[in-house]
Amino acid sequence: MSARILDGRAVAAEVLAEVGVRAERLRARGVVPCLAVVLVGDDPASAIYVRNKGRRAAEVGIETRDLRLPASTSESDLLARVDALARDPAVHGILVQLPLPPGIDARRVLEAIPPDKDVDGFHPENLGRLVIGDPRLVPCTPAGCMRLLAHTGIDLCGKRAVVVGRSNIVGKPMAHLLLQADATVTIAHSRTRDLPRVVGEADVVVAAAGRPGLVRGAWIREGAVVLDVGINRVEGRLTGDVEFAAAAERAAWITPVPGGVGPMTIACLMENVVQAAEGPPG
Ligand code: NAD
Repeated sequence: MSARILDGRAVAAEVLAEVGVRAERLRARGVVPCLAVVLVGDDPASAIYVRNKGRRAAEVGIETRDLRLPASTSESDLLARVDALARDPAVHGILVQLPLPPGIDARRVLEAIPPDKDVDGFHPENLGRLVIGDPRLVPCTPAGCMRLLAHTGIDLCGKRAVVVGRSNIVGKPMAHLLLQADATVTIAHSRTRDLPRVVGEADVVVAAAGRPGLVRGAWIREGAVVLDVGINRVEGRLTGDVEFAAAAERAAWITPVPGGVGPMTIACLMENVVQAAEGPPG
């Protein structure tokens, strides 16, 4: 088997086109969808992410407000800024770029974002809603993975899915979205025994460990769908968590890195912003 490429750029373009239509509809009724992006400190990777989010937003008719704060910002200062954005009716989405500088409790800051403006979907209320099967704003990377899976046309009902990684922002919400789609889900992590066997049983593999080439091609079950969330910089090049060429020999579908899950994450962020601006359903 030689895998078909799951082209994240192409699927993201479809999502962004839909988002653009929804943003236009909002503008027609006098609502300008607005995302506030808070960046603390000068982490170069974060600065690139923030710039890319701003560009995408502009392309689909979403306004952005950038708040750049020095690394020396105190936690109480940051909480006051987030609170001001929380109270501002013109701001529909608030995103605090992670990681935050040492000395700031990220969890406290994320919990200060009102759940209905939490376009990253990291607030405990939004994660809790996802777990009980009543999702509102869903974390963007797992949401993007689900859109890619939908693009394959494969029915996930009863399929065996393995998520490698158990972070609160990728692995755990990903597992719950798969569960909601009626897959039988295993979460593997750094303490999992016999990862090759666990991965080898999966019809769907989502690799989100942040370890370059961790998932070997030979582990992949023939005909599986492989989503590589990992973004690792190795010798100046971006690479995923999956040994791509060997995995592509066995998989039915596979995402490249870059150009797979990454573009979907930003597209789903934009989708969350218009969803937040549209307000609660009904
Ligand atoms: P994290 O470090 O918070 O979590 C990594 C998880 O992987 C942990 O739960 C850990 O148990 C597991 N893990 C680590 N080593 C392992 C091993 N040897 N075997 C099995 N499991 C192992 O990372 P994260 O924030 O969830 O991100 C994961 C990766 O995804 C990173 O490379 C990150 O850069 C990338 N990422 C990409 C996007 C995107 O848009 N494509 C978005 C978010 C994160």
